[in-house]
Amino acid sequence: MSERLNGHTLLVSLIATPIRHSLSPTMWNESFAKKGMDYAYLAFEVGNEDLADAVQGIRALKIQGSNVSMPNKQAIIPLLDELSPAAKLVGAVNTVVNQNESGHLVGHVTDGTGAMRALQSEGIDIKDRIVTLTGCGGAGTAIAIQAALDGVKELRIFNRDDELYANGQETVRKILENTDCKATITPLEDQEAFKKSIAESSVYIDATSVGMKPQEDLSLIEDPAVIRPDLAIMDVVYAPAETKLLKFARENGAKVAFNGLGMMLYQGAEAFKLITGEDMPVDYVKSVLF
Ligand code: NAD
Repeated sequence: MSERLNGHTLLVSLIATPIRHSLSPTMWNESFAKKGMDYAYLAFEVGNEDLADAVQGIRALKIQGSNVSMPNKQAIIPLLDELSPAAKLVGAVNTVVNQNESGHLVGHVTDGTGAMRALQSEGIDIKDRIVTLTGCGGAGTAIAIQAALDGVKELRIFNRDDELYANGQETVRKILENTDCKATITPLEDQEAFKKSIAESSVYIDATSVGMKPQEDLSLIEDPAVIRPDLAIMDVVYAPAETKLLKFARENGAKVAFNGLGMMLYQGAEAFKLITGEDMPVDYVKSVLF
């Protein structure tokens, strides 16, 4: 990499905390090296307190763009000049583009488009389909909005009756107001409604943190009758690689059941395209990372 860096090298940043564990620097720098692009990608441990200075730094240093992760995905919004339609609806930003290095910063969200590309890469078309989604936090909201924008016929969101439920109700309101998708939200505690919804769906997406530590022994589906060979299942969690839900699905005959690595990879690929204008060499990155 040091051979590539020179006085012309362009910078892309990642601002979040904690962030040292992130796979993004490897994804991006391996892509730059593979494509011979004169760019570098660096992670900066920045929280809400220093966010305004960091954003000003993007402008002052003519950083090409930045990824943004927790706790900055919402806090960055008032510091930007413009939002993409999806970022506006989701109310979160994970990618900032410094348009023509002018300091005009446009916020995008690629978590939802990343998830949609992950589904496509598994051969799943969600257009005009019924989709059941659990979770209405950060990941769930981005997926819900993008699925609605991309033409899902009916989106049935289920969330436990916690502090995020109102957020899900707000997401449903936005979807109904801005798209043709028929969206609903129901408490996950209504297990009969949940099972009935999955029985009528082509795709089930679990966008909760269930299955990830410290909830690795939990699955929101425990009834084998819910799993069908023609029900596609995506779990946004990717560590562990096989969550309890995915193991259960596999053991009970699901044909297409996969984790969140694709979503993670493709949200990066979408951001790469937005910031550099180039395609991320996705297959190569996959071979390096996974
Ligand atoms: P969040 O805190 O905003 O939302 C968490 C969601 O999980 C809420 O809907 C909450 O109600 C639900 N939940 C948690 N425990 C539950 C339980 N025991 N029963 C039922 N529901 C429960 O978190 P987030 O940012 O939306 O992240 C959710 C998961 O998605 C995390 O595991 C995160 O690592 C993963 N994620 C993956 C990607 C990816 O690219 N694959 C991207 C973002 C997030």
